[in-house]
Amino acid sequence: MSERNSVEETADSASATTDGRTDSRSDLLRVRDLSTRFFTEEGQVNAVESVSFDVRDGEILGIVGESGSGKSVTALSLIDLVESPGRVTSGQVWYRNPDLAEEFPDAADGEFVDLRELPTRVRRTLRGPSFSMIFQDPMSSFNPSITVGEQIAEAVEVQRRANANPRSTRSRTQGYGLGRFILDGVVPNRDYTDPESSRRAVELLEQVGIPDPEQRADEYPHQFSGGMLQRAMIAQALAGEPDVLIADEPTTALDVTIQAQILNLLRDLQDERNMSIVMITHDLGVIARMCDRVCVMYAGEVVERGTLADVFDRPVHPYTEGLLGSIPDLDDPAPRLQPIEGNVPSLLDSEMGDRCYFADRCPKAMSECLTHPPEFDAAGSEEHRARCVLADHDYDPSEALPEDFFGGGSPAETGVTSTDQQAEDGATSEVSQDD
Ligand code: SF4
Repeated sequence: MSERNSVEETADSASATTDGRTDSRSDLLRVRDLSTRFFTEEGQVNAVESVSFDVRDGEILGIVGESGSGKSVTALSLIDLVESPGRVTSGQVWYRNPDLAEEFPDAADGEFVDLRELPTRVRRTLRGPSFSMIFQDPMSSFNPSITVGEQIAEAVEVQRRANANPRSTRSRTQGYGLGRFILDGVVPNRDYTDPESSRRAVELLEQVGIPDPEQRADEYPHQFSGGMLQRAMIAQALAGEPDVLIADEPTTALDVTIQAQILNLLRDLQDERNMSIVMITHDLGVIARMCDRVCVMYAGEVVERGTLADVFDRPVHPYTEGLLGSIPDLDDPAPRLQPIEGNVPSLLDSEMGDRCYFADRCPKAMSECLTHPPEFDAAGSEEHRARCVLADHDYDPSEALPEDFFGGGSPAETGVTSTDQQAEDGATSEVSQDD
């Protein structure tokens, strides 16, 4: 434990909720200084930079930011799904699990165990019963040539087998030996899944609101509408009854009415199961509607975090202010929305420099912002923090950088906004609010 930060150094998890009540829920996950790099031909890309946050029992934590801010890579890093040339390079992911803590004392601190210190085979077994993920585009996540019911039943079957031997690393391929190969050759249509798993798949489809689940289970993904398929993906993610469900932009591909249904469904399931959800989105409306606490990400960093009230009512970081200022107010429609000028910076290590990564877009950039700021405590709840000098002291216009400090291509001068750039890139929608 000597070199790693002790998880017990973390402040008490009790905190103020959005309505000022004390939240005494226990931490389930404590992420500390997590960094993920991609080692590309162009150089090292710092996709996630020293990210820290907690996830509590039965809460919904929102992670919000523009495309390319590192939200999804953060989620993949949590559950060990970052693929080459990417790699989690440092940090800890502490997961409260007394059984694992007892079994792996070298990786443990109290009831918490650092997932990054566990053997890979053990980490794999946690996908399903501990952590599960809903992906953005269900159409590309389901296999088009296998019925929806069978794909969900497979997920149930994997868990059923793993439960029979909790530390087993058996999956469909790992458990597929010579005997199974010969048997499948003789009886090519023999099912992988047990009838009990198929029945459970139908139950799960019913729980997520699919009508005629028995009949639907025998249909293929292309026979489902987008909303139905997203529900089916949620059913699949629930197969292992996870402690933490990671929802990566779960409603982006859906129209507004279906979005609302899916969000209500997630909220209901979370209430029923007391499951924790990490909700990744670019949509502040989803955050406002669903989440207890929020992390705002920019250029791979968490630049502001706190309760919903901290971030929405007392934002400190100018990027958070910019996000909130660029959404329409239905009660007081302004003639024009205020976009955040400029583009997200390159995440190439060689180009990032040591200043605040938001400095060239920040209307309040000062000379001291040319040194990378640490995370400061901010006014509000005891967990409100911002990676901005304005959390430490007020803005001093006399120290403001000259307008052309960052060169002739400054965003304000060129008139290029991140929205323009994203449209040019063919990227999906910008940070928005639909509530
Ligand atoms: S540290 Fe400075 S440049 Fe960065 S967001 Fe805060 S005020 Fe703006």
